[in-house]
Amino acid sequence: MPRIVLWNPPAHRPAYRLMDWDGNVLEEGPMLTADEVYCDLCNKHVPLNPAPMVGSYVLCLDCLEKVEPGWREQITPLLETIWRDQMASE
Ligand SMILES: [Zn+2]
Repeated sequence: MPRIVLWNPPAHRPAYRLMDWDGNVLEEGPMLTADEVYCDLCNKHVPLNPAPMVGSYVLCLDCLEKVEPGWREQITPLLETIWRDQMASE
């Protein structure tokens, strides 16, 4: 069963958002651009777009390999090529 979700980072988003139990926003972090995506496990910059997510976590390819060893079977060969090109131009 595929566990990877592909995420297209929006042009601008807050780094974080604190909410209360009723869903009201209490605090927002500094604004980030679509190029400012970081691995939720190791904090490494993630130059992949779309970026891989497992659960609610964005992962770099190193962490994706550890968390989801079968990731290659869950994406198309074309997307793997695109990700390798994006990693190489990092
Ligand atoms: Zn990582």
